[in-house]
Amino acid sequence: MPAILRSLLLCAMIAVAPARAQDAPEMRAIQVSPHAWYVQGQSALGSKANRNFISNAGFVVTPAGVVVIDALGSPAMARQLLATIRAITPQPVKLVILTHYHADHIYGAQVFKQAGAVIVAHELGRDYLGSETARLRMQASIDEGLTEPGTQVIAAAPWLAGSASFDLGGTRFEAMHVGPAHTVEDLAVYFPDEGVLFSGDLVFRGRVPYVGDADSRRWIESLDRLLGLPAKLIVPGHGPHSTEPRADLQLTRDYLAYLRQAMGKAARELTPFEEAYAATDWSRFEALPLFKQANRMNAYNTYLLMEQEK
Ligand SMILES: [Zn+2]
Repeated sequence: MPAILRSLLLCAMIAVAPARAQDAPEMRAIQVSPHAWYVQGQSALGSKANRNFISNAGFVVTPAGVVVIDALGSPAMARQLLATIRAITPQPVKLVILTHYHADHIYGAQVFKQAGAVIVAHELGRDYLGSETARLRMQASIDEGLTEPGTQVIAAAPWLAGSASFDLGGTRFEAMHVGPAHTVEDLAVYFPDEGVLFSGDLVFRGRVPYVGDADSRRWIESLDRLLGLPAKLIVPGHGPHSTEPRADLQLTRDYLAYLRQAMGKAARELTPFEEAYAATDWSRFEALPLFKQANRMNAYNTYLLMEQEK
């Protein structure tokens, strides 16, 4: 028996009282197939008011427990997610798959760990754990009230060395390593019985993607790989689910390709970034939420990447 399965079977069920923080935003479970749901974060930056509820989390109910995909951006929201799951099924959460180590997807993980769940993620996420970036981000998130004091970045146990299959109560899950893309450690989780793909942040819907220091060339390659799956439905890392996976994967793909094309040209021709940015026609994307907050930094990071690639 694989170690992960053994640990799943052994892990204890601990009851956690559902508690909804007074000032936390509403949460509603959206059912996308007979056994799969998700909760949808706001298309906004993290704030004290939204408790960093700016990304999605998915869950699948099996006869032997619940599998959760991503843990939300604060323990407060994770407690609310746990209460939301409890309203749907008495099954305990047995497994949490973290798609990547970005604050809005992981700050709630300790709640599931305390509830007895096994937390898994790709091992390349381990570098984030002890990093200065992680420490500064946590401090800023606590100072700004996005998350509460005492929030921790939880290590996965076990870390996955690559893609992995899980079987819980006869239900199969494929955790596919699709990084480096949005991050080096990106996992996408496929639930083949019902054709549901939890894409993590490889797919953003309803807002401009956060590119950060992503490897956009390989991100595009990974999107092409996901397009090869027979998924009927995608639950993205941000934004509403999609019943037209092909069209909706395309928006993220087109945005990345456009950044690369525009900034690649500028880098090759040694046009200074400011000049190139001002001269680029952004009209196709500027109506998307968070364009103002994210596009310039995305373009700048892509400019630096393209300077290295050329
Ligand atoms: Zn992310």
